Amino acid sequence: MATTRRELAVRAAVEQRLLGPDQPVVGLLDVAGIRSAAAGLRAAFEEVIAPGTPVLHAFAVKAAALVPVLRLLADEGLGCEVASPGELALARAAGVTPDRIVLDSPAKTVAELREALDLGIAVNADNPQELERLDALVGHRAAPPSPVGLRVNPQVGGGRIDAMSTATATSKFGVALQDPGARAWVVRAFVERPWLTRLHAHVGSQGCPLELMAAGIRAAYELAEEINEAVGRQQIDALDIGGGLPVNFTSDEVTPGYREYAQLLRAAVPGLFDGRYKLVTEFGRSLLAKSGLVLARVEYAKSAGGRPIAVTHAGAQLATRTVFAPEAWPLRVLAYDAEGRPKAETGDGPVPQDIAGPCCFAGDLIARDRPLPELAAGDLVALLDTGAYYFSNHFAYNSLPRPGIYGFDATSADGEVRFATVREPQTMAEIVAESGARHALSLSRLR
Ligand SMILES: *Cc1c(COP(=O)(O)O)cnc(C)c1O
Repeated sequence: MATTRRELAVRAAVEQRLLGPDQPVVGLLDVAGIRSAAAGLRAAFEEVIAPGTPVLHAFAVKAAALVPVLRLLADEGLGCEVASPGELALARAAGVTPDRIVLDSPAKTVAELREALDLGIAVNADNPQELERLDALVGHRAAPPSPVGLRVNPQVGGGRIDAMSTATATSKFGVALQDPGARAWVVRAFVERPWLTRLHAHVGSQGCPLELMAAGIRAAYELAEEINEAVGRQQIDALDIGGGLPVNFTSDEVTPGYREYAQLLRAAVPGLFDGRYKLVTEFGRSLLAKSGLVLARVEYAKSAGGRPIAVTHAGAQLATRTVFAPEAWPLRVLAYDAEGRPKAETGDGPVPQDIAGPCCFAGDLIARDRPLPELAAGDLVALLDTGAYYFSNHFAYNSLPRPGIYGFDATSADGEVRFATVREPQTMAEIVAESGARHALSLSRLR
């Protein structure tokens, strides 16, 4: 997010009281940043693909499962990649039409598969058993009402973060292509099913080098060529190359960018772009991460064993991965004063501090020993690059509420910042209701 827009938004969030005594933490989304990321994605692939070739950029909903975000992305020409009935419902609530939705999930039930086919939503089968379920659903119809593909795992290896590496030898996703007999089985699966028309590979994500991702897509492309050759016609007419572009969490620079990735893909897999294959992409993190920040109040500033600790309202409940896997998911933290102005360092320079969250366990730390201007009670901290995966994957520890999320426009020439509600903060009444309040006496009466 551009520094000026960030500074304007933080200040305005305080002035317009999005953050207050009873709302000590909020999420902010830079609408201009989201629009520009979406436009950048489209432009990068338009540059490399034969003119007129259909391309669907399906946003991976799990990265920001927020209806207004899906709608904004749809306005920018994107569709949705969904992996559960909930995500599908969100995409539909955002007005995304079935022809612009792709269903991937390793555990689709028969009911989910049937619904997707009935609606005309593209489905990528994960494994042989799922393909058998689809056989039964497609029945004797010449063609299912929606495009159906098969996910393969090219087993090209993992990246820096185990939990984010989808193409390892033993990954749970897709048909493991290099296992004994697997490739021949896949070719036969297509030969026997004229309606199986897509091949899907998602090789990512955070921590994976672009070359590894490109190698995985090259393997999928070569397999598609082999299958079409075996069938004797272009049965596979679309390739779904997944998402997974890593995000730089260490500075405001957007690197790698979509253009770099698209150019690399064109060099590594030229045939992918010559117009014979429709293209589907499924980017998530790289579309949203840079456009979001969490803003939280410092409730107390204390010290233990000589270590200054800022106790804030942003912790594991919203930065779950950062707290539990800090090496894999470090976040930049900025310090602001109570009015939302960048906090200046004192003469002694930055002070190494722990930035703690509100949860009741010792490891609830966003950053350890992080040099920052010394924080005081009432100051604010901003967690940067949190637009993807941080706002919609709440962890209900300590019954802490999901914070409100607000989009902002800070592009006006007069410096005025306008906010729009993306999601209301969760209320106490909602928390109590979700925690079984209706059944308060159920256990006591059971005997
Ligand atoms: C999560 C996921 C994506 C998006 O990955 P990002 O790293 O957020 O870009 C795309 N496709 C599938 C199948 C996924 O599971």
